[in-house]
Amino acid sequence: MQEYVTNAIVLRKFPQGDLDGRYTLFTERYGKITGKAKSSRKITSKLAPHLEPGTALRARFIEAHGTQIIDALKVGDARRSLMDLQFLAMVLPEGQPEHAVWRMLVTRRFSWQKVLAVLGWDPADALCESCGIRRGTNFFVPRQEFFCDQCVRKVPLITRQNAVISLYASVQSERRVDKQE
Ligand SMILES: [Zn+2]
Repeated sequence: MQEYVTNAIVLRKFPQGDLDGRYTLFTERYGKITGKAKSSRKITSKLAPHLEPGTALRARFIEAHGTQIIDALKVGDARRSLMDLQFLAMVLPEGQPEHAVWRMLVTRRFSWQKVLAVLGWDPADALCESCGIRRGTNFFVPRQEFFCDQCVRKVPLITRQNAVISLYASVQSERRVDKQE
């Protein structure tokens, strides 16, 4: 059975059954993969500490009844927020290497403008999908559309927090704006 070995960053995890876990990894060689780690939720699991979101690791996996992560060794920390990791899990294509995005992460020169441009949604000249006038400074992931800072406020706050990548404003300044409303 063929084994695959690659550097990877854990983007997110979710439970599967009672003891197993499913993990979305961004791998250097194969792009985004989602795989199962058997018994990773047992407290005695040796893999679990190496599979927390944000962990940079060496991962070994096989293709048998789907993708199975059979070994994981933490080598560092991606130093991205959990939201950034979750957004990456949403926008990266499955099973397709994205070397430019990978390099941005490992060299810590990460920017959402560049990531979206590399993946085919260049925000440079994007106009707001709603008003068509102002700059599209927010990327609504599920619809793959840009909205300006004003129109994006029509999106419910909870959806915004989970599905809108704010390209320029920091999260804190957005929170301040919300308080004033
Ligand atoms: Zn607008």
